Amino acid sequence: MAHASLDKRDPTRKPGKTTRPRVRVLLPLPFPGPFDYAVPDSLADADLRPGAIVSVPLGRRTETGVVWDNDSVLPPEFAPPPMPAVADGRLKPVAALLDLPPLPAGLRRFVDWVAAYTLSSPGMVLAMALRTTATIPTAPVLGWTVADPPPPDLRETPTRRKVLEVVSAHGPLTAAEIARRAGVGVGVVRGLADAGALRPAPMAAPPAFARPDPDHNPPVLTGQQADAAHSLRELATQGGFSVTLLEGVTGSGKTEIYMEAIAACLARGRQALVLLPEIALSSQWTGRFARRFGAEPALWHSDLGPRLRRITWRAVADGAAPVVVGARSALFLPFPDLGLIIVDEEHETAFKQEDGVTYHARDMAVVRARVAGAPVVLVSATPSLETLANVGAGRYRHLVLTARHGGATMPEVRTIDMRAHPPERGLFLSPVLTEAITAATGRGEQAMLFLNRRGYAPLTLCRTCGHRMQCPNCTAWLVEHRARQILTCHHCGYQEPVPPACPQCNAEASLTPIGPGVERITEEARATFPDLRIQVMASDTLPGPAATADAVARIARREIDLVIGTQIVAKGWHFPHLTLVGVVDADLGLGGGDLRAAERTVQLLHQVAGRAGRAEAPGQVLLQSYTPDHPVMLALVSGDFEAFMRQEAEQRRPGFWPPFGRLAALIVSADTPDAADATARALGHAAPHGEGLQVLGPAPAPLAVLRGRHRRRLLLRTRRDVAVQPLLRHWLSLVKPERGARIDVDIDPVSFL
Ligand code: ADP
Ligand code: ZN
Repeated sequence: MAHASLDKRDPTRKPGKTTRPRVRVLLPLPFPGPFDYAVPDSLADADLRPGAIVSVPLGRRTETGVVWDNDSVLPPEFAPPPMPAVADGRLKPVAALLDLPPLPAGLRRFVDWVAAYTLSSPGMVLAMALRTTATIPTAPVLGWTVADPPPPDLRETPTRRKVLEVVSAHGPLTAAEIARRAGVGVGVVRGLADAGALRPAPMAAPPAFARPDPDHNPPVLTGQQADAAHSLRELATQGGFSVTLLEGVTGSGKTEIYMEAIAACLARGRQALVLLPEIALSSQWTGRFARRFGAEPALWHSDLGPRLRRITWRAVADGAAPVVVGARSALFLPFPDLGLIIVDEEHETAFKQEDGVTYHARDMAVVRARVAGAPVVLVSATPSLETLANVGAGRYRHLVLTARHGGATMPEVRTIDMRAHPPERGLFLSPVLTEAITAATGRGEQAMLFLNRRGYAPLTLCRTCGHRMQCPNCTAWLVEHRARQILTCHHCGYQEPVPPACPQCNAEASLTPIGPGVERITEEARATFPDLRIQVMASDTLPGPAATADAVARIARREIDLVIGTQIVAKGWHFPHLTLVGVVDADLGLGGGDLRAAERTVQLLHQVAGRAGRAEAPGQVLLQSYTPDHPVMLALVSGDFEAFMRQEAEQRRPGFWPPFGRLAALIVSADTPDAADATARALGHAAPHGEGLQVLGPAPAPLAVLRGRHRRRLLLRTRRDVAVQPLLRHWLSLVKPERGARIDVDIDPVSFL
């Protein structure tokens, strides 16, 4: 396709004989590539340069899309097959050029790259970059405020009261924003407006993103800290692509140090992006950032309201947001001038997106940095084996901090052998642990109990007939949530009230909870320690970042004696008065035969342990385990993480398991078991053969039924030097899924469910 000269005023062009000038427009929809559109007379070609955001007709609809580049930068074997050309006569014109900053070239290249690597349609990757709602320009928004005086005859309901509370606390907000914050439908807001209890009001001006000042409040760094900060500052100042692993024990000052890299990036006038695995963490993080730089960073995550989302997207595109901290989706923001990426807690599996386009944000951050020609810093106390292998191969730089800041010591880690020190019947905390909690809180210090399981009990069983309460849509047990009086499926969200009798044998009062969730541990702790002030931290008890920030603030103000939580408490929190961490079930993550189960358990528990003793008072960590001699427990007790990872590496190397080889999973899902089996079998028959590659399966997925869909898995394992994408493309082209079946591709899978 020749696009060298699209200028309609080109004097060499003979009227009537030439082809109409065209542009390629990528739409945020699951098509294999961009479509051609004609340049309308109303627009100059120069308006429709690659990156321009336009609206175009598609069938009877109008869609927002992006003028795409003509030449792929991908190696041919990675590039998607070309789209068929459209004849001139059938070409439709671009409808309008939208008043938005263009999508920068770096982001366009990144979209192409991610699509090719993950075998996704580029449009679906673009959808993440465009966040269509974020980009559609809107007229000035009208907000709603509380009418004063209120109408005399207003009918009050709990939801209406909630709405009025939200509006009086936060001033004029859009109806959608009010509904979101109050957790009600927009209808409730409209109803109040109709009743005269809310009146229209102009919205306050959007919050400007203040410029962080790199010299506002720099820390005093010494020794290892100063050396590491110096190296990172240099990389950020010079610019250019590089990858650095910043490894340091919990509390060694990693955050403090990478903030110096951000300072250097800001001093050069470029933008910085910080990825956190869990957006709940952002409250403490932004507070820290503000103390260091005298201004808040921009935030980006899925909980942002539509208005703030729009403002932030634009500010990033205009370069008005110098620093963005966010979840993995922030990688797809339109930075025109990205100068640094930080991936904090790089080992976290939360960086892997499992729905829609499956991608690993840590790996894609490296790609984004390469496209931008910028340094990326991967930060962790317990780096992933993937990253360590890259360090070992000399591809990544390595900075190490071996001591905690300010003389704080590493916590002492011990296992409690649950066979020798069992809890009382029906309870889950060993006397060794409860005594330690009593002692720590008696000294006025804080304690934490960690159990990576939400709800009251993971299984409900009938004592009479042995019936297990199972999800009707998934191969999974229903988890009791006692406070809400429901049984729910953690995979599909199905829920039902806890039945009074066994649905199988009708025996009454026979259903029994088996095993603990965090709710049950809380019940036990309340009974054992009636005087302690307890804070539960689990994703379902803390509905959003604000509630989490609140809980964290209460803990920091010492209004809490005992924190009980799921993996959310493991994250990078800094609780200076916390000295004891008890892990209720240290063996929990080890079952299941997942490739990374041991690595992940060490990382998670080490991180939980790292919450203890971060200030003067030394910390203590107690791991309740039935397998205290397991290598994972021994590694946690000895603290010799390096030796453990060396062993892990030696186990994976011979079989070419990652990071010494590549994996790609094919997941077949279908309406019926037959369609799933037939499609999976067809894939099996068409499987590639060759040197350095092996196909495992098809086999039923551990979650053999999920949301009513029947699932089968195949796993392609190759040597590192095999390019799996072309192989997969060819393989998939040979198989037509049965009716009602689909095949999803997961490159570098993290979950094997
Ligand atoms: P990490 O990210 O490695 O867990 P942090 O950066 O959170 O460590 O540091 C742990 C604590 O020590 C924080 O409260 C931090 O503010 C403090 N700290 C670390 N280094 C310094 C320093 N050089 N000067 C002052 N405080 C520091
Ligand atoms: Zn389910």
